[in-house]
Amino acid sequence: MSLISIVNPATGNVEGQVPNHTVEQCLEAAETAATAFVSWRTTYPRARAEILRRAFELMIAEQQQLAELIVRENGKVLSDAKAEVAYAAEFFRWFSEEAVRIDGDLRQAPNGPNYLAVTREPVGVALCITPWNFPAAMATRKIGPALAAGCTVLLKAASETPLTAYAIADVLKRAGVPDGVVQVITPDPPAEAVAALLSSGLVKKLSFTGSSRVGSLLLSQAAEKIVNCSMELGGNAPFIVCDDADIDAAVDGAMIAKMRNGGAACTAANRFYVHAAVLDEFTDKFVARMSSLVLGNGLDSATTLGPLVSAAQQSRVAALVQRAVSDGAKVLCGGTVSENPMHGYAATVLAGVEQHHSIVQQEVFGPVAPIICVADIEESIPLFNDVEHGLVSYIYTKNHGRGMRLANALETGMVGLNRGLVSDPAAPFGGVKASGIGREGGHDGLLAFLETKYVSTEW
Ligand code: NAD
Repeated sequence: MSLISIVNPATGNVEGQVPNHTVEQCLEAAETAATAFVSWRTTYPRARAEILRRAFELMIAEQQQLAELIVRENGKVLSDAKAEVAYAAEFFRWFSEEAVRIDGDLRQAPNGPNYLAVTREPVGVALCITPWNFPAAMATRKIGPALAAGCTVLLKAASETPLTAYAIADVLKRAGVPDGVVQVITPDPPAEAVAALLSSGLVKKLSFTGSSRVGSLLLSQAAEKIVNCSMELGGNAPFIVCDDADIDAAVDGAMIAKMRNGGAACTAANRFYVHAAVLDEFTDKFVARMSSLVLGNGLDSATTLGPLVSAAQQSRVAALVQRAVSDGAKVLCGGTVSENPMHGYAATVLAGVEQHHSIVQQEVFGPVAPIICVADIEESIPLFNDVEHGLVSYIYTKNHGRGMRLANALETGMVGLNRGLVSDPAAPFGGVKASGIGREGGHDGLLAFLETKYVSTEW
């Protein structure tokens, strides 16, 4: 069997190898998952809940080791990786609590003697495809609700970061997940195997997190067999600083919204709209904070910014900044690549950016913050909405009513109002427009893995 070598983005060292599964092996795994589904779906919710609870506890007990593994394959800073493990584990805890709350409904028909009985059933084998930026959390955000619902899982991990996926599968096995209920597959390149799985008739659910480009392609492939789809796709978040904002709070929020995970987050603030009255104060304070970040190997204690995951990502971010500069943007800090760590890119702030610049219209997915000066916040709402994505927005204002009115006007699935972080396992995470279909987390996340069955009866 051929193997994929996993390279540490900071050092270039090979950290491990995983199988490069063939199309046939992926289809065999789907057969196994379909067989395992027959018994897994009939386990009592409490049994599934307790397995998930044990998996949560194991992840928390092993937080340090899991976090170091994430750093070695993804490059992020250890503190970000530890936060990711805690966040990822919370999906197992949350869905252990949701597993016993799969509800139904019973009503008399409005115009008849019969009753309308509504129950929920697990969808079936779920193909869960995850990106490299949160290798633990994007997996548990899917596996948690799938197992709670009674589905079996094929986890197709990103080729850059499969070691964490295998480590999570091991945690689940030790927590009591039976053989065949969760399997990791790592075909590389993945296109042929994923297409074969979607057309096999064995996969009943596709839960995908990744780019809008690949999401759109997979939706078209899923159409053939009418596979139930949930899509968590790209983002392009506006970060709006009103004239009445608490600027220190806005800078704190900007550092989280922009720099969590080194900017490689779908929720990352991608374009900063700052009112002219507070532009200088916000920019000066933000540039000071961004300039103080220390680029290095994520495992070094002095490091506060890790490298990008690959040479390809480094060149993509560098090209976006070069293009912005040729469009007329000014580099206030950063703007440089680093070779030590490999694939590094300095924390960068760009001023003088305009709405039509490609750095505003595209997802940066790196440590670069373009600032656009606006003269009137409310009149700029069309600019905030003038992108293809609609995942999340951030607003800073001391006037809560104004903030809520702005939140209502923004075409995004989520809004951080005076907060730079919205992710919470108990909340419905997801976007509108090209950012996706469906929600993960909260109660909605469980419903994504359930079918509704209605029985009409009378007695
Ligand atoms: P990507 O779309 O390139 O890859 C995502 C996954 O799809 C990987 O596992 C990859 O191997 C697989 N894949 C790629 N091409 C495929 C194909 N032709 N057929 C089948 N599978 C294929 O995305 P990425 O670069 O790994 O991740 C970054 C993207 O993910 C960004 O756009 C980011 O915004 C998005 N993302 C979204 C969320 C969210 O919740 N909305 C969360 C994290 C990341």
